[in-house]
Amino acid sequence: MTPDPLNQLVARLARLPGIGEKTAQRLAFYILRAPPEFARELARAIEEVVDKVHLCSRCFALTESDLCSFCTDPRRDERTLCVVEGVPDLIAVERTREFKGRYHVLHGVLSPLEGIGPDQLKIKDLIARLHDGHVEEVIVATNPDVEGEATALYLTRLLKPLGIKVSRIAQGLPMGGDLEFADQATLARALSARREL
Ligand code: ZN
Repeated sequence: MTPDPLNQLVARLARLPGIGEKTAQRLAFYILRAPPEFARELARAIEEVVDKVHLCSRCFALTESDLCSFCTDPRRDERTLCVVEGVPDLIAVERTREFKGRYHVLHGVLSPLEGIGPDQLKIKDLIARLHDGHVEEVIVATNPDVEGEATALYLTRLLKPLGIKVSRIAQGLPMGGDLEFADQATLARALSARREL
């Protein structure tokens, strides 16, 4: 029999994505054997992330303040907006150093099968942002899979009547691939070779 606090820890770790029961047990034993300060720092880091990090009220990236650094940086071009599915994709685009505009994070893609429609995504907020008239081009950088393509098409139909140029990152990316895991060079090329929709 293992002590209950240890079982609790294993049960919680096992709920993390990609972590099965065995790995959870290994991690729990590692935490238990490590210097107590390590475990306390880990617990503190988790608490701080929950308490302090939230979504930017404009682009829905992560921030500790009301607006994120992408939205407040005056050196970034507010005429170009890169629309991504999630924060990991934003980080991937940012790593290419190819894009100097601003972002909008949808927090998902259209997926009728999973019951995800436009209202479940940050699409209304995107439209509201475009009404201030600064944005001239929207680059749709959703993943090159079925849902990502459907979302890009939906956004194009929505945004074009507003007189905004809508472009899609080029297909240097493998179909069905994931932006988050694309190598920097491929993603940089896909961005610079984007095509208007
Ligand atoms: Zn922001």
